[in-house]
Amino acid sequence: MNAPASCPAWSIGELLQWTTDFFSRHGVEEPRLSAELLLGHVLDCSRLALYTRFERIPSPRQVAAFRELVQRRKERVPVAYLIGKAWFFSLELDVSPAVLIPRPETETLVEQAIRLVRNTTGWEAPEILDLGTGSGCIAIALAKNLPGARIVAVDISSSALDIARKNAQMLGVRDRVRWLEGDLCEPVQSLSPPVRFHLIVSNPPYIPADQVDALMPEVSRHEPRLALEAGPDGLAFYRRIATSAPGLLRPAGALLVETAFDQAVAVEAILLAAGHYDSSRIIRDDAGRERCVLVRLAAC
Ligand code: GLN
Repeated sequence: MNAPASCPAWSIGELLQWTTDFFSRHGVEEPRLSAELLLGHVLDCSRLALYTRFERIPSPRQVAAFRELVQRRKERVPVAYLIGKAWFFSLELDVSPAVLIPRPETETLVEQAIRLVRNTTGWEAPEILDLGTGSGCIAIALAKNLPGARIVAVDISSSALDIARKNAQMLGVRDRVRWLEGDLCEPVQSLSPPVRFHLIVSNPPYIPADQVDALMPEVSRHEPRLALEAGPDGLAFYRRIATSAPGLLRPAGALLVETAFDQAVAVEAILLAAGHYDSSRIIRDDAGRERCVLVRLAAC
């Protein structure tokens, strides 16, 4: 990337145009959006504000910092990791390469969980468990939208939990989420006194091991493999959750999991085969794709 460095007098508008073309030439998706987010980050202003300052000339130091980010974006580092931020359910979250970048698809699970809690009599102060919390996006979005809820969130990665805790602190829900380090249900099973949940949610890893490398480079090279890979068929975590969740649920408790668009039927079968659940439902996202499976225990 020679042009912006050798032309330090480029305006914001010119930098955006040059970078958009550069990204397009290198096959970077959403080239204009990437350019705007990176330049906004360096100049510490919103994307909209870039357009009100189109003629302004950033300082040589700002251009150098931008240039560095553009280079890394060309190497397919996700924008979210470069700017350290992602947006989920109208919340701004910190992210780092220690956590999966929250996906818009996961908002379907959050919407469904909120609807279920609000529509269930007796769930005014629900205990909710989030398995594999990563950035904490699900746990925090639920805490923000369900003021009576108390949430336990688990992750096997201590560096992911550091990010999640920081997000909860920034978003003012620190007191309502308890963070536990460990493997799926294990740290919850050993809680004393025991906690039993009205609702367990999870967006577990669900990519078949041999397909991770075929994903777009942003994902395969930069997102944590731990958060993606799930055994030979991508269903390993659902099998474990199917058998371990019922012991942690209250009567009439619910388990809600996200799946890939083509896994919901298989996941529903796995959950029902565990033999504990009374009813099940597949939930579609706004685009009409199957996205979550909800199962419930009998009332008693
Ligand atoms: N629960 C987090 C999310 O939905 C992390 C999921 C994961 O790491 N598989 O983004």
